[in-house]
Amino acid sequence: MGRLSTGKLKGSHKKTAVTILALTALGVSFFLFKWGKSAVYIFTRPMLGTVVNLTINADKQLAQNVSVEVFEEISRIEELMSPYRERSDVYRINKSAGEGFVEVGYETFELIKISKEISIESGGAFDISFAGLGSLWKTGSEDFIPPARERVMGSLHLVDSRNIELGAENRVRLLKRGMKIGLGAIAKGYAIRRSIEIMRSRGITSGIVEAGGDLQVIGNKYGKPWIAGIRNPRENSLAFAVALADGDSIVTSGDYERFSLYRGKRYHHIIDPRSGFPTETFSSVTVIHRNPTLADAYSTSLFVMGYDRSVEFLKKNKDVSAVLIGLNMKVHASSRLKGRIESLDEMNVSWVE
Ligand code: AMP
Ligand code: MG
Repeated sequence: MGRLSTGKLKGSHKKTAVTILALTALGVSFFLFKWGKSAVYIFTRPMLGTVVNLTINADKQLAQNVSVEVFEEISRIEELMSPYRERSDVYRINKSAGEGFVEVGYETFELIKISKEISIESGGAFDISFAGLGSLWKTGSEDFIPPARERVMGSLHLVDSRNIELGAENRVRLLKRGMKIGLGAIAKGYAIRRSIEIMRSRGITSGIVEAGGDLQVIGNKYGKPWIAGIRNPRENSLAFAVALADGDSIVTSGDYERFSLYRGKRYHHIIDPRSGFPTETFSSVTVIHRNPTLADAYSTSLFVMGYDRSVEFLKKNKDVSAVLIGLNMKVHASSRLKGRIESLDEMNVSWVE
């Protein structure tokens, strides 16, 4: 692990997997070393509906100060974008659906703008107005029952990001009454991005910001690349290790993250806007990209797009690398990841050129 000077991952895979798993149940984790005065410190907080881990390689005082600042920034973003907080931009937009424009912060405005663009780019797979169906899908709750098809059909007209209108001076409105937006597929990536920017601006040259398994890295760990794990979607183990370069982010969308089983069928939290139902192609999609906001949005997009459209997208967008794990556990990965990704669970990869 970490000996990547030849561009290949070496060492005992099984041992590596076991060691990583011992460190975290989240599926992504790292080795810690002490070195001179600075050391690797980890700060953990429940935020963004998940757990945020900051790994900071610096002297203790600096690491502590930076962690406080980063957690404050993440809470600020959560206050702006949570659909549940009454003062948030997203809450206010949803409350005024079908009425006038709502003025929001420039960041919320930008994320909505990017989301609308990615909606077009993904042929409608990515659509933050999926949230119009949100009340029908209580996926993950204990008493989950899938909604009747007619009810889903009856609400599907609320899902169409072309009906999210962007006005001047950061104003947004939803054209139909009952429409809702949710930034759950992109805001976490943005929070990671802002956190890394703060860490860099404070002089941190080695570290990680990770939220629920999604992360971006700064630098390396004592000269060796940071290594992230991709979870096996059906086992409590890691399927792959991926070597990351300075500034890389890696984000996974998975059908195991929030789901309910009903009469033996899995219903997860990622909705195909065309059908209004959870998608049924992939069990996980991991995207590696320089920008965690886009990595987050693209992982959800590809997850919904399914195999053929994802492959077409990856061929067109060479800056996006992905690992696609099908419901049949067949794995396809961008050929640009050759030499950077190592199978830990004997899962074979077919390369997408
Ligand atoms: P992620 O784990 O990043 O793939 O995000 C999943 C979250 O995105 C879900 O919990 C929903 O909040 C939201 N979501 C579900 N379906 C879609 C979709 N088709 N487009 C955009 N966001 C979605
Ligand atoms: Mg996402």
